[in-house]
Amino acid sequence: RYGGQGVFAKGPSKTVLRGVSLSVRDGESVALLGASGSGKSTLARLMLGLERPDGGTVRCLGRPIDAMDAAGRRTFRRTVQAVFQDPLGAVNPRHRIGRIIAEPLRHLTGLDARERAARVAELLRLVGLAPEDADRLPGSMSGGQVQRVCIARALAPEPRLILLDEAVSNLDLVLQLQILDLLAGLRDRLGTAFLFITHDVRLVRRFCDRVAVLHDGGLVEDRPVGPSFAFDHPAARALLDAMLP
Ligand code: ATP
Ligand code: MG
Repeated sequence: RYGGQGVFAKGPSKTVLRGVSLSVRDGESVALLGASGSGKSTLARLMLGLERPDGGTVRCLGRPIDAMDAAGRRTFRRTVQAVFQDPLGAVNPRHRIGRIIAEPLRHLTGLDARERAARVAELLRLVGLAPEDADRLPGSMSGGQVQRVCIARALAPEPRLILLDEAVSNLDLVLQLQILDLLAGLRDRLGTAFLFITHDVRLVRRFCDRVAVLHDGGLVEDRPVGPSFAFDHPAARALLDAMLP
């Protein structure tokens, strides 16, 4: 529920999600669909501990995330990483790219400076950027390039779950495929799990094992993705129809 308290005390209070239950297992790729404003990003923010639910619990590896000690929180941050749609809003404009990507390595791993620099170079290569890009500032790069920096930063600590909130939709199709191949490689090699918030039905078909649909504050669908899939709920059917080319 947003509003009615704190800085939103004067605004009307609004319940966005109610009774949502969603789990993502190791190695699983789940698509989360829903109309604009249905609460997809809010659910992602709850999963990251950036918002607190009025009720219910978010668990990571079986443990409630709001009852963790400092060591538990560190493990949690290493376990779950996220990439959001607005890349420039997600990076410090005064930090060079190398520093941005190395940030989680510095906080969450025991790598020394030289090991971090080597890992940053490798990550830049993986997302299709050049080693020299480590010295650039975000403002000198295109939106798609900064988006790839954010993806590299999310991959850096080798998380077990990555939340991608419209994270590849602003990349050209060739780059999208390149990034999806990279993520598929991680899934095969490390068993990384993904939650894709997307409006792209091809991405769901190509990459995801399961698809869930948010509507009216709740999950109205949660089912496996076969070679073809269909929904029962009318709102989910309408959404899928609208997504099909
Ligand atoms: P989109 O596809 O457009 O990104 P979404 O499914 O991600 O939509 P959310 O961003 O989760 O939707 O928003 C869900 C609802 O919560 C919307 O009605 C939105 O206006 C409201 N909302 C989101 N963030 C806040 C906030 N910080 N304060 C108050 N209301 C908010
Ligand atoms: Mg959103």
